[in-house]
Amino acid sequence: MISERMTRLASGGSAIRAMFEEGKRLAAQYGPENVYDFSIGNPYFAPPQAVSDAIVDIITNGDPMSVHGYPANAGFPSVRETVAQSLNRRFGTSYDSGNILMTVGAAGGLNVALCCLLNPGDEVICISPYFFEYNNYVANYGGRVVVVPASEAGGFVPDVDAIAAAVTPRTKAIILNNPNNPTGVVYPAGLLRRLSDALLAKGEEYGTVIYVISDEPYRELAYDGVEVPWMPGCMANCIVGYSWSKSLSLPGERIGYLVIPDDIAEGQLIYDAAVVANRMLGFVNAPSLMQLTVARCIDCYTDIALYDANRKLLYNGLHELGFECAYPAGAFYMWVKTPIDESEFVARAKSYNILLVPGSSFGTPGYVRLAYCVSGDMIKRSLGAFARLAADCGL
Ligand code: PLP
Repeated sequence: MISERMTRLASGGSAIRAMFEEGKRLAAQYGPENVYDFSIGNPYFAPPQAVSDAIVDIITNGDPMSVHGYPANAGFPSVRETVAQSLNRRFGTSYDSGNILMTVGAAGGLNVALCCLLNPGDEVICISPYFFEYNNYVANYGGRVVVVPASEAGGFVPDVDAIAAAVTPRTKAIILNNPNNPTGVVYPAGLLRRLSDALLAKGEEYGTVIYVISDEPYRELAYDGVEVPWMPGCMANCIVGYSWSKSLSLPGERIGYLVIPDDIAEGQLIYDAAVVANRMLGFVNAPSLMQLTVARCIDCYTDIALYDANRKLLYNGLHELGFECAYPAGAFYMWVKTPIDESEFVARAKSYNILLVPGSSFGTPGYVRLAYCVSGDMIKRSLGAFARLAADCGL
């Protein structure tokens, strides 16, 4: 008999992945041009040319022992220093290589952080709607997710009072994701400072430390000049998990980092533990070739104008048809209220070959998430199908 937990998870699966697979099946049946797959955050746009050039150059001219060998478990010191200096330039911090741990994407980094922080039974606050993989990451270390709904009236920002009320002596951490998947909301600095004060006060009351784990794969994706706050600048005891999956369109290459600042509680101990966790969880180290590549491309980003064009196209199209959704300020997701029952809406959308992810897959029924990191052409083609869906739902 295999693990009971894995038996359960294997029969459940991920709604996002299931939709993604369904999209491939429908594309084979109806032709890819007749399927509108908004299910997964897999960037359609290729990485910047500088990334491909760097990869070719490193493979051609690099020392094979370095390019393809094991680096230090924390990552190449020179790469970590490059990341630290880039953050210092951008955010006025004073990090060095000893604050940076190269990771296997944001997912790997979050697992390392949680592995370091959690004892079995510890609680981790998540703000719904949220990326549901957090449930598995927290459970990996015997932790328990405590869900606190975002303020719907406030536009899906964290509800400081509700979070403070959910803190118990077992609360070890809160995971924040800014800019947010699935809502596209960017949390402002003032709100984050208020939240930090509330968490510090609760920690003082219980004699505990509540860590903030800031999950930031979308940090570079914000529109109309909206500023994404540097989270450790707003929040005490904050560990940052970053990834180039979206900012350089490299999700399959599995590269990211953790920032573990010196001034968080037991910062040095957490860093030392994180190096061990990175090895012990089986990652051993982040991919060497990708570490060297991102260091070369430290100032490169995907062209945000491409996502911005998609954002406008999809938002305007859906808005004109009568769908209710907020204009996203960041990331590449649209969070749309369902005009009818959520599961019925998702099923009807599928009957028009539109693939969406139900809000209940993020802990908030009554909505759907559309990933618009797709081709603009697909969005244009999808609008006819959305029009039929809108009519079908009485809009
Ligand atoms: N966190 C959030 C909120 C995400 O949306 C994703 C991926 O979509 C991840 C983490 C995982 O990112 P990575 O590919 O860097 O592991």
